[in-house]
Amino acid sequence: MGHTIGIDLGTTNSCVCCVIDEERIVIPNAEGSRTTPSVVGFTEDGQELVGQVAKRQAQTNAENTIFAVKRLIGRRFDSPDVAQARRSCPFNIVEGPNGDAWVEVRGKEMSPSEVSALILREMRDIAEEHLGEEIEDAIVTVPAYFNDAQRQATKNAGKIAGLEVSRIVNEPTAAALAYGVGDEAQKGAMKVAVYDLGGGTFDISILELTDGVFSVLSTSGDTYLGGEDFDNAILDWLADEFEAEHDVDLLEIPMALQRLKEEAEQAKCELSNADEVEINLPFIHTGDDGPLHIEQTLTRAKLEELVDHLIERSLDPCRTALKDAQLRRADIDEVLLVGGMTRMPKVRQRVGKFFQQEVDTSVNPDEVVALGAAVQGGIISGELTDVLLLDVTPLTLGVETAGGVFTPLIQRNTTVPCSHTEIFSTSVDNQTMVPIHVLQGERAMAEDNKSLARFELTGIPPAPRGVPKIDVTFKIDENGMVNVSARDEATGMEQSINIVADGGLSDSDIEELIEEAASKEAEDERMRELMEKRNQAEGLLYSTERSLEAYGSELPEDEAQELATDIATVKELVEGANLEELGTIIDTLEACAHRLAEAMYAAMDEMEEGDASGEEEAM
Ligand code: AMP
Repeated sequence: MGHTIGIDLGTTNSCVCCVIDEERIVIPNAEGSRTTPSVVGFTEDGQELVGQVAKRQAQTNAENTIFAVKRLIGRRFDSPDVAQARRSCPFNIVEGPNGDAWVEVRGKEMSPSEVSALILREMRDIAEEHLGEEIEDAIVTVPAYFNDAQRQATKNAGKIAGLEVSRIVNEPTAAALAYGVGDEAQKGAMKVAVYDLGGGTFDISILELTDGVFSVLSTSGDTYLGGEDFDNAILDWLADEFEAEHDVDLLEIPMALQRLKEEAEQAKCELSNADEVEINLPFIHTGDDGPLHIEQTLTRAKLEELVDHLIERSLDPCRTALKDAQLRRADIDEVLLVGGMTRMPKVRQRVGKFFQQEVDTSVNPDEVVALGAAVQGGIISGELTDVLLLDVTPLTLGVETAGGVFTPLIQRNTTVPCSHTEIFSTSVDNQTMVPIHVLQGERAMAEDNKSLARFELTGIPPAPRGVPKIDVTFKIDENGMVNVSARDEATGMEQSINIVADGGLSDSDIEELIEEAASKEAEDERMRELMEKRNQAEGLLYSTERSLEAYGSELPEDEAQELATDIATVKELVEGANLEELGTIIDTLEACAHRLAEAMYAAMDEMEEGDASGEEEAM
């Protein structure tokens, strides 16, 4: 059997690693680089270029060169993240046949999975070339907040690339594995913060490690904060200086802009090791008096001043993640750095200061996720032992119940794999079908949450409301994929669905949803209370009506008539009643129910007396 490779399928760069004889290796590409740009270029003569070669031709073939396809994978065309991507991408993003975001290159529409497959295939080829063997199995990493659709689409990408993706692993979990946090499990429970600042995105995850088991306590981040913003800060500064001197806005000149961008990134990277760099861009533009050049010195101090606000911006999600995990900064035992941008000394310093400790920089931040994926591969293949991996759900999952209430089955940040069953029933008599509406979110009412799927359980035998027992089970597997099933206990009839969520939820989406839920908590609570009271009143109304039918004849006629009128009156009122009115309605119904119960017991006593006298006669 061939080795299982670990692939970090990144937004800007990808990396492939492997464990051989317990040794973890980063596999370099043919050019000797340990990471490969996640860029795919489609040339006029039909070639598909991947990596550095694709990046090189991007300038002259911008609309047929796909960058950052990870931002699109598994997302709906009409989602806000895709709208943002459309504004900034030079290539065409179109609506795919199922409403997902696709790309269009050279007149052909392609799914993000197909584009990602080309990157995965390249990573596999790099590994095969290096190891001299065929590779079939891979572990691929995804951000912890990826929803089911995004995970499924990533898995599909592996399939299209001809790889068996045996596991999708969350990036922070992979990072923790690579840093060897798992090796120290015997020391007791540990809390780990994984700070991941890459080329285009920022993620923060809080993990807990107990007895060799990892779980993600919380995740947060900013889908539009990354190295590129740092490059742009330098670029803007260079352009401003140039404009002040020559009165020419280089940002308006595409060729100049591209050169500025490349130079800015290079200067930024060099300044991680040097105190200052010279930026030389000869012939950047031709003015009225001939060619113009850029010759500037950028110091590390100046760079830090230019990007200070960006580093600070990354700390807000850190605060949110801590709050969600219900931890204080001092509770964090270890801070791990992931992503090329964390090579910048100022980033390391600021993050260390925030978490009040030294950050761990012992593993290359741009290789750490792929290394962790390879470690996971080693665990699965049996080459490495002793570490088990668990992750969490980013948002609460549940179903819609009577009155449009959202009833959670699996709470946010529950460790997966997990499963939970709850018993539900029908809301009207002789109901033979139960609609199951699966939702995700933190709000009290179903309509305020995100609808993931709907299905129906049919064929329920006619019965009074509340009698049928329907088991609804939510199962989330170790890849974070959700299966919902509904089963009628009486007939054993079952329906289930594997959820493909509509529209990806980014870190910021999740953040927004959580914040919105928090701000509307009081309002939601009132609504939930109202709906529960209404359900209670309806239930009581139903049972009182049935009792009146059965035992009304035991009451004096005028009293039975009075109860019937009372019941009919409140029946009219239930629908539009407020909380207070519902209270009165419930009191009225309870009084009716008590009166009917008395009549019922009196009738039973009479029957028993009758029975007893019968027995005596027999003796
Ligand atoms: P990643 O997405 O993890 O591959 O990170 C890529 C980002 O890290 C890009 O914005 C790079 O410019 C940045 N990066 C890589 N090396 C360095 C470095 N030595 N110093 C600062 N930033 C770097």
